[in-house]
Amino acid sequence: MPADAGPRTPSGPRRPSGPRTPWVLMYHSVADRAEDPYRVTVSPARLERQLRWLRERGLRGVGVGRLLRRYAAGRAAGLVGLTFDDGYADFLTEALPLLRRHECTATAFVLPGRLGGRNGWDAEGPRKPLLDADGVRAVAAAGMEVGSHGLVHTDLTTADDATLERETAHSRALLAELTGTPPAGFCYPYGTLDARAVEAVRAAGYAYACAIDPGPLTGVHALPRVHIGERDTSTRLYLKKVLHPLRRRPLPPAQAPAPVPAPTPAPAPAPATATAGDPAAGPVAGQAPGPGQATGSTRGRR
Ligand SMILES: [Zn+2]
Repeated sequence: MPADAGPRTPSGPRRPSGPRTPWVLMYHSVADRAEDPYRVTVSPARLERQLRWLRERGLRGVGVGRLLRRYAAGRAAGLVGLTFDDGYADFLTEALPLLRRHECTATAFVLPGRLGGRNGWDAEGPRKPLLDADGVRAVAAAGMEVGSHGLVHTDLTTADDATLERETAHSRALLAELTGTPPAGFCYPYGTLDARAVEAVRAAGYAYACAIDPGPLTGVHALPRVHIGERDTSTRLYLKKVLHPLRRRPLPPAQAPAPVPAPTPAPAPAPATATAGDPAAGPVAGQAPGPGQATGSTRGRR
C-alpha cells in the first residue's frame, strides 16, 4: 500500500493525523566544548537557545515514548521528540535544568553496563563521565524517560547472538531493576542496525527504538532522528524542521500507532521493601512484525 494512502489501514486502527514521521532530535553530551572530534557536544548556551527557539514557535520537547503515544492518538501536533544518547553525567547537571526551565522532557538513552564509567568506545575521546546508578534513578525521578542504549555501546550489526541478547534483553532487565520500570525505548549504538537487530529489540519487549537514518527499515523500531549540534542556529533548526518530512520515509501505516505503554509513576523515594524488579511483569506490547519488513543493513551517521 502506498505510504500516503488514506486515513485507514485495512486491518489496523485509525491512521494518526499530523506529520507522517515524528520529528525527533538527537543530542549526546551537554557541556562547554573544548575538543569534540565526534561532534557529540552541545554547549548549555546553545541548548538553551535551541529550546527557546522551539518554545517560541509553540513547540514542546518531550520524550519519545510520550511523543509516540500522542502520535498514535493523532495529537502529536506541536510535540518534538528530544533524545540524549550515551547517558552522559552532564545530562543531569546541564541538560535537565534547561529542559525544566523550558517545560520540556526528554528521553535519556543510558548504558547499564557502564554505569559510572566513561565513553571508552570513542577512541579519540575526550573521555566524559557517564551517569551512575543514582544518576539514572535521578533522571527517572525528575520525570524524564530512561531508555536503553544497549549494555556497553556495541554495534549490534556485528554482535553474535549471545551479545545481541545481552545488549537488548539484559540491558532492559537491568534498567527495570534500576528504575522500577521496564524501559519502553531502545536506541541503536552508532545508529547502526539491520533486520536482525530490529527483531532482537522487538523480541526483548521494547515498544520502540531510535535510529538515525534507518532507510527501508524505518518503523516504530527504527525511528529516524536528526543530529543536533553546536552549529545548529535558529536558521539551521528551521531548515531541518522543514526538510524533515522530505528527507525521511513515513512510518509504515501498520506500525504508526505505536504500542508504547504508559509509564508507571516514578518509584516512591524510599520503599525499603522494594523487591528486585521483575522485568517480565511489564505489559509491554509486542507487535507482530509488519508485513514486508525490509531487510538489510543501514549504517547511519554517528
Ligand atoms: Zn551512542
